[in-house]
Amino acid sequence: MVIAGWILLGLSGSIAYAAVLPVVDQSASLLKEADSSRTQNHDRFLELLQRLDKQAAKLSPEQQEYLHYLQAWQAAYVGDYATSDRLADTVLTHSRDSVLRFKTDSFMVNSLAERSRYEDAFRRLNLVLSRLHTVSDPDARALAITVAVLLYEESGQYDLAWNYADQLANETRQPNDWMCKTGYARLAALYKAGKLDGINEKLQQGIDLCQKVGDDLYANGIRLYLARVALQRGHSEKAIMLLRSNYDAVQRSGYSWLLSQVDALLAEAYLGTSQIALSKQSALQVVARSEGNKYSESLSVAERVLYLIAKSQGDLRAALDHHERYMASNNGWLDEVGARALAFQIVQQQLLAKKLQLDTLSKQNQILQLQRNLDKKASETSRLYILLLLTVLAFIGFWAYRVKRSQLRFMRLARRDGLTDIFNRQHFVNEAEQQLQYCRKSGREACLVLIDLDHFKAVNDTYGHAVGDRVLKRAVAACQAHLRSTDIFGRLGGEEFGIVLPDCTLEQVLSRTERIRQALVAVVRGDAAEEICVSASFGVASTRYSGHELRQLLIHADDALYRAKREGRNRVSVSDGRAEPQLNAVAVTAEGVQ
Ligand code: GH3
Ligand code: MG
Ligand code: MG
Repeated sequence: MVIAGWILLGLSGSIAYAAVLPVVDQSASLLKEADSSRTQNHDRFLELLQRLDKQAAKLSPEQQEYLHYLQAWQAAYVGDYATSDRLADTVLTHSRDSVLRFKTDSFMVNSLAERSRYEDAFRRLNLVLSRLHTVSDPDARALAITVAVLLYEESGQYDLAWNYADQLANETRQPNDWMCKTGYARLAALYKAGKLDGINEKLQQGIDLCQKVGDDLYANGIRLYLARVALQRGHSEKAIMLLRSNYDAVQRSGYSWLLSQVDALLAEAYLGTSQIALSKQSALQVVARSEGNKYSESLSVAERVLYLIAKSQGDLRAALDHHERYMASNNGWLDEVGARALAFQIVQQQLLAKKLQLDTLSKQNQILQLQRNLDKKASETSRLYILLLLTVLAFIGFWAYRVKRSQLRFMRLARRDGLTDIFNRQHFVNEAEQQLQYCRKSGREACLVLIDLDHFKAVNDTYGHAVGDRVLKRAVAACQAHLRSTDIFGRLGGEEFGIVLPDCTLEQVLSRTERIRQALVAVVRGDAAEEICVSASFGVASTRYSGHELRQLLIHADDALYRAKREGRNRVSVSDGRAEPQLNAVAVTAEGVQ
C-alpha cells in the first residue's frame, strides 16, 4: 500500500449480505472470512482471494460483485489503482445490491484521497453523504461516516470531522471498530487544532476503545499522538518509552506508514535525549522506507533530524544534503496538506456554484411561471377589454341605428306633407326638376299637371275643417290610384296638387288626367256618410310646348288651370305654350303662384 496520510480502511466482517447467507454456502462463508481478515490477517486474506478467484465461475452474480469489491480493495492496497478503479466500476455498474454499491463509493473516496486526488475524493464524498439518509445498513453508514471524518480531518476541516464523529457515536449502540477509527480521527483533529487540554486522558480512552474492539493498528495510531504530546511538552524519555513499548506490534502489522511515523518520532525523541546514534538510525529507517514514495511528514521530520545531527557533528556537506532534502520534503508535505484543504474549498465552491445555478434556474422558472400567469391574466384582461369594446361597439351601433332611424324619420317628415303623406312642395320641386333634367337629356317628353279642388272653401265652411282634411286625403288617394311609381306627386299648398309625369306624351297624360278627374268625383261622391260633392280642375302643360324648365311648365299649367276654372271647373285644360294675356302679371315661382 502506498504511504499516505492515513490508513486504508478495512471493513472487518461487516458485509451484511455475507452474513445473511446460510453458513453451508461455502463461497459465502469464504467471502465473509476474507472480508474480515483484510487488515487483521492480510496473508489469509490474500489466500482466500485466490481461492475465491479460482471458483469465481461457481459464484452467484452478487457474490461475484462482492469478490470484485474485495479485489478492488486489494488492488488499491498494493497501489494498483487502475485495476482497483476498473473493479470498483464493475461493482457500481452491475451490482444490484445498493448497500454494496454505497460501500464501494465510500471505498472510492478513501482510495481517491490516498492517491492525492482530493477534488475527486471530496466530490465522491459529497455524493456518498447526500445518499447517507437513504441507507439504513449500520456498517455501510459507519463506513461512509468514517471515511468522511478521516477526509475532513486530513484536510483541516476539524469541525466537520467532529460533527460526523459525534454522529457516528450517537447512532452506534455498542463500541465498535468504526468508533475506534473515527475516535482516532477525532483525537488527531484535536491535536492538530491545538486543543491539548486533557488530551492525554482522551487519547488513552481512544487507545482503550480500539484495543477493546481489537483494532491494534488504530490503537497504535493514537499512541503516536500520545508520544507527540509528550515530545511537545519536553518529555522525550516518556515519548521514547511509549513508542518503544509497542514498536514490535507496529512492526508486525507491516504497515509502513505507521512504522515511519513511529521512527520519525523516535528520531526526534532520541535527538532530544542526545542519543544521536539511535536518533540517526531511526531517521535513516524512515528515509529507507520512503524510497520511491512521495513526500511525507515522517520523511520531513527524519531529514531535519539528520540535518541537525550532521551539523552538530561538523559534517557540513551531509548537513547541506539533508537540509536540502528536508526542505524539499517539508515543502512537498506542506503542499500536500495545502492541496487537501484547497480541494475541499474548490469542491465546496463548486457545490455552492451548482446550488446557485440551481437557485438561478428555479428563480428563472418562477419568473417564467409568473410571466405565464401574467400572460394568462393579460389575455383575461384583454378578453374583458374586447368584451367591453364589443359592448361599447354594440351600443354605438344601436345608437347609430336609432340616430339613423330618427334621421330618416326627420328626412321623411321634411320631405312629406303631414296631412296627405305625399311630397311637400319643396321636395316636389326638387324631384320634379331632377326628373325633367333627366328627360331633357334623354330627349323624352314629360308633362306637368296642376290640380285645384273646386269650391273647397265651401266644403270647409259647410262641414268643418276636419271633414275638409278627410276629403283632401281621399282626393289624394284617388289620384295615387292612377299614378305610376315614376310619377312625382306633391301637395303644393292648400287644396292644390302637382303631378310630373315623365316619359309620357301629352295625349297619354290627358287621358290619364281625365281618368283621375272622374275617379276623384266618383270617390268623393261614394262616401255615403258625408255625401260631399267635390270636383277638381286640372291644368296641363307639356315639355313639347313649354320646354323642360319647371318654372315655365308651372306658369303654363297654372294658366291652363285658371282657364279650366273660368270655363266652369271640373275639367281638364291644356296649355299650348302661349301665355294667357290676362295672367301675364302673375308671378310664378318654385314657391308657388303669388
Ligand atoms: P275655387 O273653386 O275657385 O278654387 O274655390 P275655392 O274655394 O276652392 O278656392 P279658395 O282659394 O277661395 O279656397 C281654398 C280653401 O281651401 C281655403 C281653405 O279653407 C281651404 N284649405 C286650404 N288648406 C286646407 C287644409 O289643409 N284643410 C282644410 N280643411 N281646408 C283647407
Ligand atoms: Mg285653390
Ligand atoms: Mg280651389
